[in-house]
Amino acid sequence: MNDMTPVSPCFLPRYARENVPRYTSYPPATKFHDGVGDPDWANWLETLPSSPSLSLYVHIPFCRAMCWYCGCNTTIPNKDSRIARYLEALHLEIDRKAATSPVAGNVQSIHFGGGSPDMLSPERFAALMGRLRDQFNISSTAQISVELDPRGLTPALAESMARCGVNRASLGVQDLSDEVQRLIHRIQPQQTVSAAVHNLRAAGINAINMDIMYGLPAQTVERVRHTARRVAELQPDRLAVFGYAHVPWFKKHQKAIPEDRLPDSEQRFAQMQAASSVLTSSGYQPVGMDHFAQHSDGLSAAVRAGTLRRNFQGYTDDNYDALIGLGASAISDTKRGFAQNIVDPWRYADAILAGESAIARGVQRTEQDIRIGQLIETLMCQFELPLESVFQMKLGRVANRDMFELWNDGLVEIDEGMLSVTELGRPYVRSIATRLDPAFAAKERLHSQAV
Ligand code: SF4
Repeated sequence: MNDMTPVSPCFLPRYARENVPRYTSYPPATKFHDGVGDPDWANWLETLPSSPSLSLYVHIPFCRAMCWYCGCNTTIPNKDSRIARYLEALHLEIDRKAATSPVAGNVQSIHFGGGSPDMLSPERFAALMGRLRDQFNISSTAQISVELDPRGLTPALAESMARCGVNRASLGVQDLSDEVQRLIHRIQPQQTVSAAVHNLRAAGINAINMDIMYGLPAQTVERVRHTARRVAELQPDRLAVFGYAHVPWFKKHQKAIPEDRLPDSEQRFAQMQAASSVLTSSGYQPVGMDHFAQHSDGLSAAVRAGTLRRNFQGYTDDNYDALIGLGASAISDTKRGFAQNIVDPWRYADAILAGESAIARGVQRTEQDIRIGQLIETLMCQFELPLESVFQMKLGRVANRDMFELWNDGLVEIDEGMLSVTELGRPYVRSIATRLDPAFAAKERLHSQAV
C-alpha cells in the first residue's frame, strides 16, 4: 500500500460524533472532586509494594505565546520573577513529596511536561534536575524525557539537557502549512522543526517523539498527508496523531479559532486515516489508537509483548507502581487513586510557599473502578478482551445489548471466548470503551469527539 491509497470509507457518524472520554485514567478526570487531599495520598502510598517502581511527572506551565488550539494547562508569564517564584515552590514540593515517598522507591522514569519546559534556562533546568537527583533514588537506566517547543530549543539548552541525563524529547509539530499555522497562532516553519531535531541529535538526545494533529482550521487531507510525510522523513522514533478538541467554553483562547474553517467530523475522520496511512506506509507500527512507533522502539516492543499501558501522557511502556506529580495541575497516580495539584500556577506557588497542601482534587478508586479501569486499558491497548471478563463485571444485561450492537455494526467480533475490535472498529475504540463503563453518561460539553 502506498500513502496515496484512498482513505478507508468507514466513517460511521453514529460513533464518530459521540463525545467520549479519552480514558487516559479511570475514573476519567471529569469525575475528580475536591474531597481528596494529603491524607488520602499518604494512605494510598501505604498500599504500595515494598520496593515500588516510581515515575515522576514535572509540570512547567509556561509558554512564550498562546497557540489558539492549546488544551494544556499553561500561562504566558509576563515577568521572569513569576517563573522564579514558581520554581522556588516546585523545589519545595520536590523536597516534601520525596520526604513522604517510599524511601526504597526506585525512579524509572521522569517526564517534564507543560507548557514548554524549554522556557527554563539551561541553569534553571540543571538546578531542577539536580534537586530531583538529590531527593529521589533515580535509576541509572531511567528514561528522562522532555516536551519541547521546537521554536524555543537552542543548541545550548539541548546540550544542557543531555548533560542532565535527558534521553528522550517530544516535539510539537501539529501542521506544516502556512495557512493552518497562521490560523492556530503557531508559526513554525519546517526548517525550525528540522533544526530542533538536528540540535537534539547533535547533543546526543537520540530518542525523539513528534506530535501532529488533525481537525485544525483549514486543514485538508492533503495538508495532513504533507505534514505526515515531512515528519516521517525526519525519522522520529514515535509519532502521535491527535484530533483537535474544540472546547472554547472551557479553553477561552480557542474562541480565536475560526469555527467556519474547522473540518466536519467526516473530514476529521478522513484526515486521521490519511495520517495513519502515510505513517504505516513509511514503516511505522501502529500503537493503540493514535500512536505510531519504529519497530525498534520500546512502544513497539510493548505492543508485541502485550505490556503496553495507557496513562495521562497517552500510550506508554512505563509500568510504574506510583506516578508522583510535581507542579501546578500535575496528577499523581497509584492503583488506589488519583490526586491532582492546584491548576493555577500562581495559586499553586502561594499554597506551597505558605506550607499548605498542593492537592486540589482527585478520586479514590473502588475495587470496581480498578477492575473496570483494567478492562478499558486492556481494550485500548490490546484491542481484545476475554469475553468472560466483560460479563464478570456485572455489566451483564447492558453489556449484552451494547456488545450485540457493536457486533452488528461490525466494530467487534466474538470468537473462542474473545471479544476483538475489528479494523473497522479501531478508530472508535473510545466509543467501544464507553460500553464497558457503567458510570459513563454522554455529556457533550465535558468530552471530546471520538474521532
Ligand atoms: S506551545 Fe504547547 S503548551 Fe504552549 S501554548 Fe502552544 S500548544 Fe499550548
